[in-house]
Amino acid sequence: MRFVETWIPATLVSTRDLAPGIREFLIRPDQYDGAAYPVGSHINVSVTIGGQPETRSYSLVGEASPRGFRIAVRRAEDSRGGSRYMWQLAPGARLDITRPASLVAVDWARENYCLIAGGIGITPIIGAAHALARRGVDVALHYAVRGRADAAYLDDLTGLLGDRLVVHAGDEGKRLDLDSLFASLPKGTLTLFCGPMRMLDAARHAWIRAGHPLSDLRYETFGSSGTLPTETFRVRLKGSGVELEIPRERSMLDVLNASGFEVISDCKRGECGLCAIDVVAVDGEIDHRDVFFSDHQKQSNEKICACVSRARGTITVDTLLRADAI
Ligand SMILES: Cc1cc2nc3c(=O)[nH]c(=O)nc-3n(C[C@H](O)[C@H](O)[C@H](O)COP(=O)(O)OP(=O)(O)OC[C@H]3O[C@@H](n4cnc5c(N)ncnc54)[C@H](O)[C@@H]3O)c2cc1C
Repeated sequence: MRFVETWIPATLVSTRDLAPGIREFLIRPDQYDGAAYPVGSHINVSVTIGGQPETRSYSLVGEASPRGFRIAVRRAEDSRGGSRYMWQLAPGARLDITRPASLVAVDWARENYCLIAGGIGITPIIGAAHALARRGVDVALHYAVRGRADAAYLDDLTGLLGDRLVVHAGDEGKRLDLDSLFASLPKGTLTLFCGPMRMLDAARHAWIRAGHPLSDLRYETFGSSGTLPTETFRVRLKGSGVELEIPRERSMLDVLNASGFEVISDCKRGECGLCAIDVVAVDGEIDHRDVFFSDHQKQSNEKICACVSRARGTITVDTLLRADAI
């Protein structure tokens, strides 16, 4: 699938702080008709990082509004700077954004639904909660946060869902027990999930253990958090004698392409698998940050998604680009 992007000019109308480190932005395109968009939609925003244009995606909060698009951005500290760029914007700032697009297919004909959000992963789940509440579905939302004070949109969600909003706040000792939650769900329940990678991995395993089909767990990922710290690593290119350094602020895909070893790519979020390249040797450890490969494929370390995945140490890859064939 190609991720087609149409860029449109827009203005930042207002900002609002929702929780420590989470800020809401109301963005209105110049030509805005307030048309409905599918649940789970996001927009891309053109940001500037180190003087270079980059793109960051943000889920739309809630359903369409005549005032514009609402997004909420968590200020990421261990970061290349996309969220910091957003945070320094003041009302009136001009922005380039894409039209809403959704990567999550929701089947509205189920009898039972379950919503799960971890931290900033609440953003795409709010629209789903509204859509289901409007349809009269008796849905619970499990919202996992470090502390209650870190939970954005708590008042809105309490107003919408009442005691069907279950906050699992770490500082109150209330951890979300995915195994018992999933065991309690009737077969045929559709679960919509958005949260960090580790939580998604835990959810996928618990979902399978509870005997639900994996296709009934629909999830949105916010990309590239991984399990190892983001640090510099080295990539050797098989048969070329070339060794490249991948600094912490750049992806392996960018460094390979900038060095003339062209790797085709598309989504750049670890979802489409187009940039997967063969791994020949690992002297260290690979941190697979994609959602394209299965657990088994990740364990085998035979391929790596160059757009988001990283490593510790040195890995040897085969880009299949042959110097003598150029
Ligand atoms: C569909 C979609 C919807 C999203 N919705 C939201 C939303 O509603 N709210 C929100 O706050 N964010 C959302 N995001 C995430 C958002 O697009 C940005 O990734 C986020 O703002 C962080 O950007 P950054 O440049 O500050 O951090 P990044 O530099 O992108 O860092 C983010 C994470 O990536 C790791 N990282 C750092 N450097 C690298 C590197 N060189 N290569 C790979 N990984 C690295 C870091 O360890 C960090 O954990 C969404 C993402 C997607 C794909």
